[in-house]
Amino acid sequence: MSVAKNLLAGRIVEDGLFPYPRLREKDREVLGMVLEAIDQFLAPHREDFKRWDREAAQPEEFIQGLRDLGLFGLIIPEEHGGLGLSNAGYARILSQTSTHDSSVSLTIGAHSSIGMKGIMLLGNAPQRARYFPKLASGEMIAAFCLTEPAAGSDAASIRTRAEKAADGGWILNGEKIWITNGGIADVYTVFARTPSDAGKITAFIVEAAWPGVSHGNHEDKMGIRASSTTTVSFVDVKVPAENVLDSEGKGFKVAMAILNNGRTGLGGGAVGGMKTLIGLSAQQAQARKQFGEPIANYELIREKIAQMTLECFAAESVVWMVAHYIDSGMDDYSVEAAISKVYASEAIQRAAYEALQIAAGTGFMRDAPYEQAARDSRILSIFEGTNEVLRLYIALSGLKDLGKSFGELKAAVDDIFNHPIKGFGVLADYAEKRLTHATGVGRDKILGKIPAPLREATATFEKYTVELAKAADYLLRKYGKSIAGRQHMLKRVADMTIDLFVGLCVLSRATALAAEPGDAGRQAVAIANAFARQAKRRLANNVRRIERNEDEEMDLLANFILDQGRYPWDVIQ
Ligand SMILES: Cc1cc2nc3c(=O)[nH]c(=O)nc-3n(C[C@H](O)[C@H](O)[C@H](O)COP(=O)(O)OP(=O)(O)OC[C@H]3O[C@@H](n4cnc5c(N)ncnc54)[C@H](O)[C@@H]3O)c2cc1C
Repeated sequence: MSVAKNLLAGRIVEDGLFPYPRLREKDREVLGMVLEAIDQFLAPHREDFKRWDREAAQPEEFIQGLRDLGLFGLIIPEEHGGLGLSNAGYARILSQTSTHDSSVSLTIGAHSSIGMKGIMLLGNAPQRARYFPKLASGEMIAAFCLTEPAAGSDAASIRTRAEKAADGGWILNGEKIWITNGGIADVYTVFARTPSDAGKITAFIVEAAWPGVSHGNHEDKMGIRASSTTTVSFVDVKVPAENVLDSEGKGFKVAMAILNNGRTGLGGGAVGGMKTLIGLSAQQAQARKQFGEPIANYELIREKIAQMTLECFAAESVVWMVAHYIDSGMDDYSVEAAISKVYASEAIQRAAYEALQIAAGTGFMRDAPYEQAARDSRILSIFEGTNEVLRLYIALSGLKDLGKSFGELKAAVDDIFNHPIKGFGVLADYAEKRLTHATGVGRDKILGKIPAPLREATATFEKYTVELAKAADYLLRKYGKSIAGRQHMLKRVADMTIDLFVGLCVLSRATALAAEPGDAGRQAVAIANAFARQAKRRLANNVRRIERNEDEEMDLLANFILDQGRYPWDVIQ
């Protein structure tokens, strides 16, 4: 039962949020050993990371070091030579590597989060036995090949084709672009159109060493420059039948399963990057004196440090909640995973901006780490699903499920005169929902478990869960299916869902930490309260703007500029 989708129906699913999950004991043990080894290996490379960023390269000896540390086998089961970490444990490792360098996290992450994830989630026993040991040791590095020149967000429109060969295998032709690890990978998960069922997509495991497979030059990128990004081409590549992942025609489902499952890796990386920025900012603010005092004494600087910390805590809370959903075998977590990616990727970009602002002129100099952090974090809202497309996904997935219940309701209401009992359950559910909207009944459901200092925050999330349900209800009735094209409205629904789900994760974590002695527990409660107050302002604004907004004016303005193709005003005229 998706916690986020339920929010749109006015329900807070307590069991999906409380108590805040803890890392598995087995993960803790592995992490205890690996995290220290990671720090020992990466810390001495600090200057190298800067140089490799400029040179846009990650030397082979360094990648060998990553292999030696076992960083390519993090999630591969132990029986195949990996560390067998859960999603939560894996995200924690990427968080650690990201405190040192984003490109390192990307090399490891593209391998585990997306490159070999298809084999992990949907590979059959022979595929796992054949590839896992080499993927675990890093003898084989993996990459994920979906994007093409004309197929970015619209991944279903790919043109790479695989035709059936006489021997039952496949002949693969096409070109993929911007493939992370493209230049260093030995095995690619490739998505291609296949002839059956009107050109459906099929996923293949393709080895780089096979004739007809090649890659282009290392792309000259804005950020994460040391990580390998290249085109990958396939010319009459013979792919054996046994290298189809899952089954023929199921490739789109495979791609989405991989991307949904991999999002907490990206989120974990963002959290690690934020932790480094917070540490740098705290030190810089204490060290830098202006007007006779450390700038740390000024409220405008303190506000930035507090806000970065609050958002890092929120990102951490949501990422590990979602990792727990995945690890506990929940089926329907794609909306929550999208929320964690959108929130964490935007939080680190705000943190990179503010950390650079605290360092000011020093921050603008390439010697300092801030400009690289600003460049490196920029990719996070672009790849693995742009944040625009993910916002649409969050809103539409929630509304679609709600729409279904309206459909059921309609049938039930039609039916109720003939079969009163059959229609009763749905109608009762509906009535309860209406009652909750009208009176706030149901508020005490989770309130009882929350410590007193967090009750006001709880009340905020409960109130706006009802407001979100009302908004969703209103939008579905007003627009019906055409809501899919109302992107201004969908963004509001998505932003409300994000604020509520992230806020509830923060609340759950703060509830768990509140009981702990010392400042950290007290500060976690303060963070939850501050998050709730900030979220309340955003939520109220989004609710208001469902009915009163400037959408029409903005659309007309966009039309005008798109027609002109330029900004038309000038003070000279
Ligand atoms: C450094 C880097 C590494 C990458 N690594 C990989 C990889 O390993 N494997 C891989 O397969 N791909 C990879 N990609 C590709 C990446 O996933 C795509 O860039 C991404 O999916 C977006 O596609 P696009 O860039 O073509 O943007 P487009 O899809 O063209 O989007 C352009 C803009 O339009 C918006 N937009 C698109 N559709 C809609 C819509 N329906 N409604 C509203 N707005 C919309 C987008 O949000 C965006 O702002 C990588 C890209 C980069 C830059």
